[in-house]
This record gives sequence, C-alpha cells and structure tokens, in this order.
Amino acid sequence: MTFSISIHVDGYYGLVKGVPNLLNLFDNYGIKATFFVNMGKEANLFQILKYRKKNKISKTDSKIFSRYNKRQLIEILFLNRKLGNKYSRILKDIKIRGHEVEPHCWSHLLWSKNFENINHTKEILKMKKAYFKIFNKNPIGFAPPTWKYNSKIINILKKEGFEYISISGPKNKVYFEYGLKIIPLSFNKTIEELLNDGKNKEEILNIYEKEMKKEYVNLYFHSDFEGIKGIKLLEEVIKIVNNKKTLLCGEIL
Ligand SMILES: [Zn+2]
Repeated sequence: MTFSISIHVDGYYGLVKGVPNLLNLFDNYGIKATFFVNMGKEANLFQILKYRKKNKISKTDSKIFSRYNKRQLIEILFLNRKLGNKYSRILKDIKIRGHEVEPHCWSHLLWSKNFENINHTKEILKMKKAYFKIFNKNPIGFAPPTWKYNSKIINILKKEGFEYISISGPKNKVYFEYGLKIIPLSFNKTIEELLNDGKNKEEILNIYEKEMKKEYVNLYFHSDFEGIKGIKLLEEVIKIVNNKKTLLCGEIL
C-alpha cells in the first residue's frame, strides 16, 4: 500500500507560520510529506481587483479569504510580499527535517485565473530558477495551481527535466499522461473544504478514517489553513495515520 501526504504552500502566512507548525506536528508523529511551494510573490491588490471585476473570483475564493483576519488581509493586498524565493531558510529547513520540497508555481493567481493567456514557459522557468538558486539542483515535481494543466504544459515540464506532476483525483494509482508520470490524489478535498461544506469534526474524521483504508492513499492540505487555523483538526487526522510509513512523492516514482 502507498500512503502519502502533500502540502500546498500558497501564501505568506502559510509559508512563515504554517510550515513551521506543520514541521513540528509531522516530527511528533513521524510523518514525511512533500511540500509544493509558491516560489514567486503574493498577488497584489490590482491583480485581485482585476479578476474580481472580470467575475473570476468565485465563491470558493471568497471562502479562502476567511482564512485570514482583517489585518492580515490588508497586508496581503498591499504588501505584495515575496514568497519561496526569499525564504530559502524555511525551504531548506523542510528538507533538513526529512521532507521534500518541489515548486507549486510562480504566480498562483495568474496560473489559476488567467491560465489561457499567460506565458507558461516563463512561469515554469521562473519557479525552476528560483528553486535551483536555493537547492543547487533542479526540481522534479510540480503541482499546478487549481490543478490546471494540459499537454502543452506537460511538454514544457518534460523538456525542463520534471519527472512528475501531482494533480487532483480521486484516482487509485499513479499513471502516465503524454509521457509524464501523474501522481493523483486519492481524495480531492482538504479539511478546510469539508468544513466549508458544513461537515463537523466527527464527520470529517470519519471521512478520513474511511479514506485511509484504501490501498493507494494520497492526501493534500494547505499550510495556509491546515497549518494554522486548522492545525488541531489536522492533528486529529494525523493520529488516524497511526505510524503508517508515509512515502514522499519522489519515492512513489
Ligand atoms: Zn495552491
């Protein structure tokens, strides 16, 4: 059986607060995980307003804003802070503590909201370069924001030496698409999404208990939520893992 966990690190708080919290939690329970990190910058106010005007900010997006308090939201809108590329210390710490780091994106907002019009090669090269600067090696895995990809993206990734992408499921095994390895989730939702669906703690734990009985288990969480506000509930979920050996994405390959 395969058991793996990936963490998406989207924003500033997820990086500077959520990641250290998760590293401590995982240490306590002997869990190893793959962290897909936003290597670029936070979205700025003008980008958010532009996509809001175009009605591209959905209900789910608005719920994501509820992760943060008012002061944090204002900071996000105005500071346009750098993320992974500026925090080599945090990224190296993830690795030192036995986990894996791979890039998630350069600009999360553009990839998810303006996927058709952006220069994908440029986005991929920017995140790859930032990653190389920190680790002195090239990344091999990629988790596209909001799971958006196509054959063109896969061809760019193959050319740039990537070996796999991590995408949404639910599926029950690793497979190939356009000649690249696909590591799908076995369960699509996070604790945050289940809470937003109106599920209570007991229902959520039941869902994970059932999921973890499968032969192929691949779960994902957001450091911006499950690493901060949702960390207590994540700990309850992690307890269900109960010393099962977790595999990194690079090990599933
Ligand atoms: Zn993301």
